[in-house]
Amino acid sequence: MAKRGADIALTIAGSDSGGGAGLQADLRAFGHVGVYGMSVVTAITAQNTSAVIEIFPAPAKQVRSQLSAVLSDMEPAATKTGMLATAEIVKEVAFQAKARRLGRLVVDPVLGSTSGQALAEEGLERELVTELLPLAELITPNTREAARLTGVEISNTEDAREAALALTEMSARAVCVTGGHLPGDPVDILFDGRNFYELTGRRLGGAGIRFHGTGCFFSAAITAYLARGMDLRGSVEAGKRLVEAAIAKAIAPGSGMPVPWLKAASDETEDQTA
Ligand code: PLP
Repeated sequence: MAKRGADIALTIAGSDSGGGAGLQADLRAFGHVGVYGMSVVTAITAQNTSAVIEIFPAPAKQVRSQLSAVLSDMEPAATKTGMLATAEIVKEVAFQAKARRLGRLVVDPVLGSTSGQALAEEGLERELVTELLPLAELITPNTREAARLTGVEISNTEDAREAALALTEMSARAVCVTGGHLPGDPVDILFDGRNFYELTGRRLGGAGIRFHGTGCFFSAAITAYLARGMDLRGSVEAGKRLVEAAIAKAIAPGSGMPVPWLKAASDETEDQTA
């Protein structure tokens, strides 16, 4: 019998060999919120801070096996999905969500990378919309993903509101369209099915600087707060604060894009004792 752990969360996502995005970013975000993380790998990507070089989606059977291994032992209070790579994998995840084994569900409908590489096979969107989005407490598309899913062109916050509404009309229950890819200060639009909320942030790092892994980190942080029992709006607001703090302290581990980063607790202790 699986045990439900209040501070246990699961990510179902791709591996980024460069460590910046994907499940590596998710587990970092979980840890910062004090939540234990499990990870079911959907794809191996060969990538670094500049580019995604190659993608190897996992066979659906491998994903099923990982899910059954972790879910027979542990019961996540919340789960997030990131890169799901294939329509078959979407079906595996939807199966577990329908059986209510994933806890509170956040779906980050990852379709492509900031650097322009496709991270989902053709046709996956259809499966996402019909099978998985209706089961999620929240979905967190960026403006490009929201545009692809709805056909609404997004160049400002009004368009983002229209796309969020369209997504709920299609199947989602609540939507947070992240505004990081639009020019100017980033404004995220949260629509909980009834009300719109604008979450305004400050553009950090200057115009034109693109960070790698921000979307993954944000949706994972929200998931971790949900796992801790916070309500939806509070979790989104806290997730935004955490990702902004990590962008403010971003590091450049390679020659490409910088990565959101927060100091380890041990460094904080050293700072205090110095
Ligand atoms: N690699 C994986 C495995 C991802 O899940 C994602 C985004 O979700 C990316 C790369 C791309 O990250 P970014 O668009 O922040 O560069």
